[in-house]
Amino acid sequence: MSDYNEMWKGLGLDMERHDQLLNALGAIYSGVYMGQKDRPKGMEYFDFVMSEVHGLRIKELLDHKEKGGKIVGTFCLYVPDEIILAGGGVSVGLCGGAQFSVTDAEAVLPRNLCPLIKSAFGFKLARICPYFEAADFVVGETTCDGKKKVWELLNEHIPTYVMELPQMKREMDKDLWLKEIKAFMEKMGKESGVKITPETLEEKIKLVNEKRKAIKRVFETRKANPAPISGKDALLISQIAFYDDPERFTAKVNELADELEERNKKGKGVLDKKTPRILVSGCPMAIPNWKLHSAIEDSGGAVVCEESCVGTRYFTHMVEEGCPTLEEKLKAIAERYLKINCSCFSPNEDRIKDILRYVKDYNASGVIHYTLQFCHTYNVEFVKVKEALNKVNIPVLEIETDYSEGDAGQLKTRVEAFVEQVSR
Ligand code: SF4
Ligand code: SF4
Repeated sequence: MSDYNEMWKGLGLDMERHDQLLNALGAIYSGVYMGQKDRPKGMEYFDFVMSEVHGLRIKELLDHKEKGGKIVGTFCLYVPDEIILAGGGVSVGLCGGAQFSVTDAEAVLPRNLCPLIKSAFGFKLARICPYFEAADFVVGETTCDGKKKVWELLNEHIPTYVMELPQMKREMDKDLWLKEIKAFMEKMGKESGVKITPETLEEKIKLVNEKRKAIKRVFETRKANPAPISGKDALLISQIAFYDDPERFTAKVNELADELEERNKKGKGVLDKKTPRILVSGCPMAIPNWKLHSAIEDSGGAVVCEESCVGTRYFTHMVEEGCPTLEEKLKAIAERYLKINCSCFSPNEDRIKDILRYVKDYNASGVIHYTLQFCHTYNVEFVKVKEALNKVNIPVLEIETDYSEGDAGQLKTRVEAFVEQVSR
């Protein structure tokens, strides 16, 4: 990794803090991932990506910039990758998943704010994330109150463009969203100097659809009992989707899916058939947030699906391909993105239906609902999730947590008791 020192210095990183971060990340990663038994061979690529998380990929991004391309930081599934790519950009997910930068953020932000927002903001303030430093601008959205107010502050450190996301799905909301998509296309073109044409947009629509289809294939294999891949590994793939090169990533995920399908044919899994199968639902988990999955799988459970932005919400809907005009392609993009069922929408009954469907499809015997502290929309929506699961007699556990280790013992005890309950 030391070969990259000049690159990191050139980005203006705080080298001492950055070294500390990389050392901590390496230790957490090997503790969580490297001791797993019977890991699919295809995971070697993702281990490699993690070993180069601030190295090779950053170099690729900087090479892209040198050729005149733009790097666009994003924080939410509603920001359309297709437009960034068609405008000659590369998108990188900047959601924070580490406690490491939370204290930096708390020097400015209130403590009672979602850790995902604090972690991301802290990375920028302390100059410890090379993705943030490589980005030309970032795109925020008005999904939740915490985020939309932080964008005003973040804009003092990096140009921050904000998309207005409607929070209902009526016709007038759809019209507003289409206008937002068009405005974003203009913004992208202005930043990059690249004119988005129907041809380039179609090409990128297909590219991103292929990426979604590849992840979907991996998720399909998890429906088998025994599951051919651990929940931790599947989560890692979803997390890496936010910053790896889309073409290479898709090819590697498809290779892995081939292997997992073969495993299923042979009835080979990573865990025993009797392992309790858990669906995790709720807030997103950004790298290196493997806290809940580790607790579940260390307690003898298997995570078989994530109803999450690092999971089903990422790949469930495709953008319609082959629409004849630029206008219709933009419409198809707007429609696809508004199908995502995030708790920031009201009402959001379709998310409840999704959870019930996934419980069946993935043959889950229990649901763990994951809420990041101070995320009011997921927290309140849990009332309905619980009601719906109670009706069909599916055990459910609510975990509300942050990124610190402060509640690790209590979390482990609650998860162990739940896994035990589900296994009975
Ligand atoms: S949970 Fe909602 S606000 Fe957060 S990344 Fe996902 S879609 Fe965006
Ligand atoms: S997890 Fe909740 S509070 Fe945090 S950024 Fe996402 S929607 Fe906002």
